[in-house]
Amino acid sequence: MLMRMKTKKTLILETDASGFSAAGEIIRRGGLVVFPTETVYGLGANAFDAAACAKIFEAKGRPQDNPLIVHTAQVFSLARLASVIETRAAALIKAFMPGPITLILPKTQDIPAAVTAGLPTVGLRVPSDSAAQQFLQAAGVPVAAPSANVSGRPSPTTFDMARAAMDGRADAIIRGGDSRVGLESTIVRITEGGLEILRPGGVSEEDIRAAIRGCPVYGAGSLCPGDTPPAPGMKYTHYKPQAEVVLFQGGKWNPRIAGAGGKTGVLTLTEKHAAFPRNFLVREMPSLEEYARRLYAEFFLFDSLGCERIFAEYPPEEGLGRAVANRLLKASGGNFFHR
Ligand code: AMP
Ligand code: MG
Repeated sequence: MLMRMKTKKTLILETDASGFSAAGEIIRRGGLVVFPTETVYGLGANAFDAAACAKIFEAKGRPQDNPLIVHTAQVFSLARLASVIETRAAALIKAFMPGPITLILPKTQDIPAAVTAGLPTVGLRVPSDSAAQQFLQAAGVPVAAPSANVSGRPSPTTFDMARAAMDGRADAIIRGGDSRVGLESTIVRITEGGLEILRPGGVSEEDIRAAIRGCPVYGAGSLCPGDTPPAPGMKYTHYKPQAEVVLFQGGKWNPRIAGAGGKTGVLTLTEKHAAFPRNFLVREMPSLEEYARRLYAEFFLFDSLGCERIFAEYPPEEGLGRAVANRLLKASGGNFFHR
């Protein structure tokens, strides 16, 4: 797909009353606003305005068959967007919204096909971030928004990343803080057979199992038996920095692999700086939460320093580790370091 030239004059808006009011006005007039959330920065348009939503695909170079998530400030606004909210959906809403979760529900006719890529369902999210809340309230309409990155690249989790990606493509960018979670929302689909986690995120599989007892929960990648892939968009590669990403297992690191030249970055959970050659740029992640929060910002840093390779430690696949592991597998194309 042809990428639109970066030609727009992009306003920078502050997180104050006049900034939110200007952002709301731009949305109601059919424009594009980049806004902070607790997961990642989003590129938003009025979800009821098909022409405005079409501009999102153009600005990102996003394939038309990859649906958008619709955001509202209030849980009660979901009733106008979902035609059915059955008991398990209501329980998830009660347990996790506002927060870093997206529910796939049957859509109402108010939502144009441009938002859902023609699917009969819609992804719905109520962010908890205070700036996101104030922006959505100022907009006064539901806001369709994917992450504010150019398609295929890592999502922005800081204002600087959002500006680097969307300056000249969006009408305005809200100068918010760093995203608290740092990875995209957990996406959950509700089917007759149980709950399916289509994408792991800030709300973990364990959290969901604890909240919804007595209902099978299928982890990311394991569809209910007989299901077809839920969204065509899921086939696309995501989250790739410019540098090549190579994964390694903690404790199995071999410093001699360093050998090859070129600027190299490292993200590590369990190893220390001293385990790596001195010319490597090593970033220690003190916890899984920090790894999630900083992952994309570290990719951005390594890219801006001209790194050619990033060695990233593969985290344990539990809790938030599943979400980090999922993004690392996509960023690396499953490329593991072997001795
Ligand atoms: P992004 O907002 O960029 O993280 O992308 C949104 C993702 O949500 C899409 O790539 C889909 O995988 C998923 N999604 C959105 N709407 C639906 C839907 N109706 N059914 C299934 N998945 C969806
Ligand atoms: Mg995205």
